[in-house]
Amino acid sequence: MMESDVIIIGSGVAGLISALEIDQSKKIILLTKKRLEDSNSYLAQGGISALLDETDRERYIEDTLRAGHYKNTRSAVDTLVDESRAAIASLEKYGVPFSRDAQGNLLLTREGAHSVNRIRYCEDQTGKFIMDALIAEAKIRPNIKILEDTRCNDLLIRDGKIYGVSASNKTNFNIYANFTILACGGLGGLFENTTNFRHICGDGVGLAIDKGIDLKDISYIQIHPTALYEDNSDRRFLISESVRGEGAVLLNHKKERFTDELRPRDVVSSAILEEMKREKVKYEFIDFSTIKLDIDERFPNITNHLRELGYDPRRDLVPIVPAFHYTMGGIRVDLDARTNIENLYAVGEVACTGVHGQNRLASNSLLESVVFGKRCAKAINISKIDFPRIYDLAWSSIDFDKVKKNIEERIREDEKSKTSQV
Ligand SMILES: Cc1cc2nc3c(=O)[nH]c(=O)nc-3n(C[C@H](O)[C@H](O)[C@H](O)COP(=O)(O)OP(=O)(O)OC[C@H]3O[C@@H](n4cnc5c(N)ncnc54)[C@H](O)[C@@H]3O)c2cc1C
Repeated sequence: MMESDVIIIGSGVAGLISALEIDQSKKIILLTKKRLEDSNSYLAQGGISALLDETDRERYIEDTLRAGHYKNTRSAVDTLVDESRAAIASLEKYGVPFSRDAQGNLLLTREGAHSVNRIRYCEDQTGKFIMDALIAEAKIRPNIKILEDTRCNDLLIRDGKIYGVSASNKTNFNIYANFTILACGGLGGLFENTTNFRHICGDGVGLAIDKGIDLKDISYIQIHPTALYEDNSDRRFLISESVRGEGAVLLNHKKERFTDELRPRDVVSSAILEEMKREKVKYEFIDFSTIKLDIDERFPNITNHLRELGYDPRRDLVPIVPAFHYTMGGIRVDLDARTNIENLYAVGEVACTGVHGQNRLASNSLLESVVFGKRCAKAINISKIDFPRIYDLAWSSIDFDKVKKNIEERIREDEKSKTSQV
């Protein structure tokens, strides 16, 4: 048995930002299913969006709403945009080295459906640079205890209030705490064709379904237009949208363009899938040769990876296919990340504030995790603890095999209810 003030499940950007922003007087236990680095956050390439200045506010809000088919929760979008610059400042405070020009000015890029360049990035491995900085800080904080290779198996809830979790690594044990934060990512690993880590496979949503915790928009799933096509791969390598943002084009097997590459992700994905159907092929192509910048300097990780696989991205057309990428829906939360269970919070991809609507605007998810992770920490920091701690020594686990079926069922139900509303 263990105990702490706060338990955090997941070591992506949402879990780590929450951990770092919680008062250092509070003891935190952070569990993560594999190594600290094994999160989808670490894989992020393109960047993190933020407001340019106040004149950009209405435009950025409109870009987010338009990409989301106006199904977004407006208050969540306003919060995301209004707190975006503070989110970047927090990351810089923890040492994230955003790319700058020779004069030290911040470099900004653009991705589909953004009307201006407002995306901050670190080369083409923004996630790695952000996560390395946050992990380094978390490791030196005396109030944060990190348990790797440890899975959360169950949530301990009594009378509508959470009092701990059951977990397992080499042994089974319970952790008791006043507050619990779910930051365990989306559904990606459940899908065969995915850009996500296989082990990030809907555990949070499964736990929520098991415990009757409210979900929202669980059928809103994003397919990324340009994952690298390989005959055999467990996880599809992503070719970031910023590659198209910097001028790459999409070509069919006759080397003809067939869509506007900078429209929202769902529109571009549909255009590729239609073209594949029309041509009766398994993939289409992305052409890097139309990019004006030095691609090795701007996209070192992507171009190295392609070269290792035998492609010369300056000359060769690279095969791409749309793949599962992101879960817009999730556990229903308010703007301070509160679920409908007392003292249980959810942040990042596992949660749904409604900020992305039906389709997430590129580079808005790292930002979402930072903005709402900070708000979650603040809500916990100011919460009064006027309740006795419950200890209940029985260890328990939900049936994770059954969970997959339950999630599929809830996706179908949500889809049906949305179609009947149209
Ligand atoms: C290839 C790729 C590129 C991307 N590029 C961008 C980008 O450029 N910009 C952008 O904004 N977004 C991007 N995204 C999306 C973004 O990275 C994620 O949506 C976001 O980082 C989610 O963060 P998170 O902390 O909520 O979850 P994750 O980073 O997915 O972390 C989830 C954590 O929970 C842990 N976990 C899961 N289940 C359990 C359990 N039962 N017990 C214990 N631990 C558990 C996992 O091990 C992991 O540590 C990209 C995603 C991918 C896959």
